[in-house]
Amino acid sequence: MIKLDAGWTFDNRYARLPERFFSRVLPTPVRAPELAVLNRPLAAELGLNEEALRSDAEVAVLAGNRIPDGAEPLAQAYAGHQFGYFTMLGDGRAVLIGEHVTPSGKRVDIQLKGSGRTPYSRGGDGRAALGPMLREYIVSEAMHALRIPTTRSLAVVTTGETIRRETELPGAILTRVASSHLRVGTFQYAAQWGTKEELRALADYALGRHFPGFEEAENRYLFLLEQVIARQAALIAQWQLVGFVHGVMNTDNMTISGETIDYGPCAFMDTYDLKTVFSSIDTEGRYAYGNQPYIGGWNLARLAESLLPLLDEDEEKAVALAQEALDQYPTLYHRHWLDGMRAKLGLAEAQAGDGELIADLLRLMEEYRADYTNTFRALTLGEYIGMALFDASEFREWHERWQTRLSQEAVSREEAYERMRRHNPAVIPRNHRVEEALAAAVNCGDYSVMERFLEALADPYAYSPEQAEYAELPPPSDRPYRTFCGT
Ligand code: AMP
Ligand code: MG
Repeated sequence: MIKLDAGWTFDNRYARLPERFFSRVLPTPVRAPELAVLNRPLAAELGLNEEALRSDAEVAVLAGNRIPDGAEPLAQAYAGHQFGYFTMLGDGRAVLIGEHVTPSGKRVDIQLKGSGRTPYSRGGDGRAALGPMLREYIVSEAMHALRIPTTRSLAVVTTGETIRRETELPGAILTRVASSHLRVGTFQYAAQWGTKEELRALADYALGRHFPGFEEAENRYLFLLEQVIARQAALIAQWQLVGFVHGVMNTDNMTISGETIDYGPCAFMDTYDLKTVFSSIDTEGRYAYGNQPYIGGWNLARLAESLLPLLDEDEEKAVALAQEALDQYPTLYHRHWLDGMRAKLGLAEAQAGDGELIADLLRLMEEYRADYTNTFRALTLGEYIGMALFDASEFREWHERWQTRLSQEAVSREEAYERMRRHNPAVIPRNHRVEEALAAAVNCGDYSVMERFLEALADPYAYSPEQAEYAELPPPSDRPYRTFCGT
């Protein structure tokens, strides 16, 4: 382990896995790297020196122009089901520079995304545009602040190069920090092309990295499957509770760690609608908001299939074990979701009628096209303005039922509202505000809009005066967003 000024402490265990799992590859140097954003709190958490990270020598590291001591750059191999179709993938535009060990002993992957071509690039250029990398930065950090497990964003550097998409766009590289980049697709890859020993090596690596206590498990690979199922059930319930739509829940975009990964065509929904999709290519709504819990189960079944050879020598027994584990998923998911919904309504205790109370509210929200986040925000603040829902007599009836239910709780009304404030964000990264921040940064080099937005998102449960403006809904679509500079 070697210490540099910035505090990088690399120890790359993934690189000790069988060669099949990666290709050693260096990032492709870029012309003129410049730091666009640096995540100071995250740098501190990782034991990295902020001043050093801003230096030319360290910006060169974040751009892939210089390899720090101890790093062993590689692209990971993986496969995955994309919109239901199985295919070989791998890091086509990302390089894992290493596993960094933080002062508290936590191990995180440091990955440069947009760092150039790799053996897995297929037809792609290996590059990323500034807008989408800033978008990942904003949304992943907002998710973290919402206390939802996610990969993090340490920095974005611009490359001084343009990349060709529909138009020429400024290029950028995101430094992504993850508990690991192991995916369901990594196991699919191992099961499809690896030997049983290679699959076992991958599973052992995943256990060691994410699931302490596995030594005590009677069947450690069943334990692995059960743990991933439990974490994904909890994660997807949290997405549903804040109205997050991932957009591309392909199996290569589902982690083993239980962190949200790969912020592409993702967004938070405004109007409550189970059919909400943001990805233009998801024409059938496979990854629509209301379908995410189901797709989570589908993806976990692919993980279970991949692990079958390790679950039991006897194939029939293996299938039975896998099925039993998978059967837990809907129950686990629903429990997290129901508990979360109760908390959003200030309820700490469980009563038989709660499910119906919640379902009735959601039904009204759908009928009156209510804004998801602002409905719960209004319930939390007791301020019922600005939505058709609140004028409906059915809503007033529902509200009375809810108040009656609240009065049956052991805790005081104040405590119930406190609970609501901890579970109903005052602010989420609404798409029109994300776009506004990106436009200012990308078109005008003005990062102040984004910085101010990030500040508001940093503590979404604060209910501070500065957050109020971010609760405002997007202008009607016939009014264009302000995308010009200055003024
Ligand atoms: P994603 O949709 O970001 O999950 O990516 C799916 C696959 O496409 C992964 O294997 C990526 O590495 C690859 N990929 C995405 N964009 C590019 C690009 N510009 N160049 C090369 N590979 C890419
Ligand atoms: Mg991906």
